[in-house]
Amino acid sequence: MKVIVLGAGIVGVTSAYQLAKAGHEVTVVDRQPGPALETSFANAGEVSFGYCSPWAAPGIPMKAMKWLFMQHAPLILRPKVDMAMLSWMAQMLRNCTSARYALNKSRMLRLADYSRVSLAALREETGIAYDERMQGTLQLFRSEAQLDASAKDVKALAADGIPYEVLDPEGCIRVEPALAHVREKIVGGLLTPKDETGDCFKFAGALAEKAKALGVAFNYGSIIRGLDVEGGRVTGVVTAHGRIAADAVVVALGSFSPLLVRPHGIRLPVYPVKGYSLTIPITDTSRAPESTVMDETYKIAITRLGERIRVGGMAEISGYTNDLGEPRRLTLQHSVTDLFPGGDVSKASFWSGLRPMTPDGTPVIGPTKVAGLFLNTGHGTLGWTMSSGSARLVADLVSGRTPEIDATDLAVARYG
Ligand SMILES: Cc1cc2nc3c(=O)[nH]c(=O)nc-3n(C[C@H](O)[C@H](O)[C@H](O)COP(=O)(O)OP(=O)(O)OC[C@H]3O[C@@H](n4cnc5c(N)ncnc54)[C@H](O)[C@@H]3O)c2cc1C
Repeated sequence: MKVIVLGAGIVGVTSAYQLAKAGHEVTVVDRQPGPALETSFANAGEVSFGYCSPWAAPGIPMKAMKWLFMQHAPLILRPKVDMAMLSWMAQMLRNCTSARYALNKSRMLRLADYSRVSLAALREETGIAYDERMQGTLQLFRSEAQLDASAKDVKALAADGIPYEVLDPEGCIRVEPALAHVREKIVGGLLTPKDETGDCFKFAGALAEKAKALGVAFNYGSIIRGLDVEGGRVTGVVTAHGRIAADAVVVALGSFSPLLVRPHGIRLPVYPVKGYSLTIPITDTSRAPESTVMDETYKIAITRLGERIRVGGMAEISGYTNDLGEPRRLTLQHSVTDLFPGGDVSKASFWSGLRPMTPDGTPVIGPTKVAGLFLNTGHGTLGWTMSSGSARLVADLVSGRTPEIDATDLAVARYG
């Protein structure tokens, strides 16, 4: 089959690779000059299978109110008259019940676990290097209240059979030796040892090369304007450079996916939630992290990527804007220098990206009411983590094969 993948972010590239492996003639279209140049470019680098949870959770509305008034706030809200934003926020609030949280989390964990296996297989078959490490995620608590609140996460990890260790400060230092310098700031930690880290941009670039070797064509610098749909079936894609015919189309446009499918009656509740990162060259390895440390106070992830520290986080609901505000930079800088001052922040690069967030935290993967049109989008906070499994699922669905895990409740039809 002739399949067009729209978007060359991590989700589009992994999808294209798996579709080519399944024997299809694949073309990827993206407006950027290369792969992973938008949200997949400088994310926090966590491949966090164990830490996969929806943001919509019981207690979050109250916490969110508090965060809005905090210095170095993890949440920034810039409300505007935007129906998509208001409706997304209302749906997000509806997902903050215990029952919805449990359902959403179980879907995310199913996909994350499949992604763990799929990423290992990809690594094995391609030999790609991407500053990867397999040393886990340490969630770091700076107060007794944070440590106590983690009891519910521990219960959830135990119930889901995900390996974890509750650590005292000495245990945290054993995992992350640089924390010995800030021993007095730590109350404890929660380690998910099976989590990994790695540079998403490097991975996507290297996998795109492997995909090319399998025959995938990459049409970069090409703006996608719309879909050709005839008699309820997709027949191609309209780009700024002309039309491309297709038997099937996979939409992997991240936050921009809803804009493309809306004219065809598909209401996709994906909204951009902006985040920021700093990438800092390491000058003193004894004061740098070994893996990912999640600073629970600021909800910021600090990750070792080769000879760099990547620090990323914050959730800003402000629409489709990538502007970089100095206060956000200072928040990232504050969190990293407080714990791991082993980098030269004067040489840091500052970046922002738009997380394609669904209100239930779960990506949208699967068919639509338009025959031949598939979605692989809405990966939100952990798209790098969930991309490998999502790609295999969508490749199976496009090929008419039964996926290896249940994917029926991942499709857009779950929104009714
Ligand atoms: C600060 C931050 C930290 C993060 N940390 C982590 C982390 O540690 N671990 C993790 O797993 N995830 C993390 N994420 C989330 C992760 O980065 C995203 O979920 C993931 O990158 C989404 O990938 P994507 O391919 O769906 O979207 P994108 O990477 O945005 O790709 C979409 C592509 O579509 C193209 N496109 C869009 N519209 C058009 C158009 N009209 N025409 C042509 N091309 C178009 C874009 O150019 C882009 O290349 C983080 C995100 C942020 C912002």
